[in-house]
Amino acid sequence: MSTENNTFTVWASIKKDLNPLEQVVINLKQWNKDSIELNVTHCGVCGSNIHTLEEEWGPIEYPCVAGHEIIGIVSSIGSNFCNVKVGDRAGVGPQSSSCHQCEFCLNSQENMCQDSVMYTYQSNWPNGDRAFGGYADKWRGDYRFVFKVPDSMSSRVAASFFCAGIIAYAPLKHSNIIPNKSVIRVMGIGGLGHYGIQFAKGFGAKVIGISHSEVKRDIAFQIGCDEYLNSSDKDAMSKYQNQLTHILCTGTGSDFEFIRN
Ligand SMILES: [Zn+2]
Ligand SMILES: [Zn+2]
Repeated sequence: MSTENNTFTVWASIKKDLNPLEQVVINLKQWNKDSIELNVTHCGVCGSNIHTLEEEWGPIEYPCVAGHEIIGIVSSIGSNFCNVKVGDRAGVGPQSSSCHQCEFCLNSQENMCQDSVMYTYQSNWPNGDRAFGGYADKWRGDYRFVFKVPDSMSSRVAASFFCAGIIAYAPLKHSNIIPNKSVIRVMGIGGLGHYGIQFAKGFGAKVIGISHSEVKRDIAFQIGCDEYLNSSDKDAMSKYQNQLTHILCTGTGSDFEFIRN
């Protein structure tokens, strides 16, 4: 089933240095048998959206529609097999397509695709159509990168799982965490670190939260940290010398010391 209406309404950056975002109507990507369309209900605001829109990561193409923590109701699906059906709540994250043919894609590691990792916005579909994110009333893309949202999870909560959530979960899942034995230092609290701390606790590890001041101390304990260390305090930072089994680093900056001791 293809859709009749090939336009959608977006909140876009339409011109360099022009803020705020503007509401405009633009064309959706061309429909094909692998397409799926969502009526967008929620979209998280990822830090990378800001970096992109402010061209901190290089020039962008206008209009730019950011947003890659997208939740919506499936409104149309292409003729190829689909893991969701019309009416389902579903979401898409930062990656919207890949080559589907390389050894990584064929091994369910599309994020490692050697040919064409395609991002959800600031990217182009194979036919040259621009890719647009979720600051919009619709999203149209490849069904293979859209996932059903469990009924038990609200859309508001689910949205950020599609970027921050999976980014924090995947390395922990692949890191052989042993309940009651692993000791994980989660560096950076506030975004990815919130997920990292909670997932690490869920895997049964002892979790040490690290931030560069005292500001995050209370929230760190509220979300499950067993201990909190202020990275500005050199003595405190030596406390777990040679005891850590894992470090989950969620952010870097020019003044950010990755490891001390
Ligand atoms: Zn993101
Ligand atoms: Zn590939």
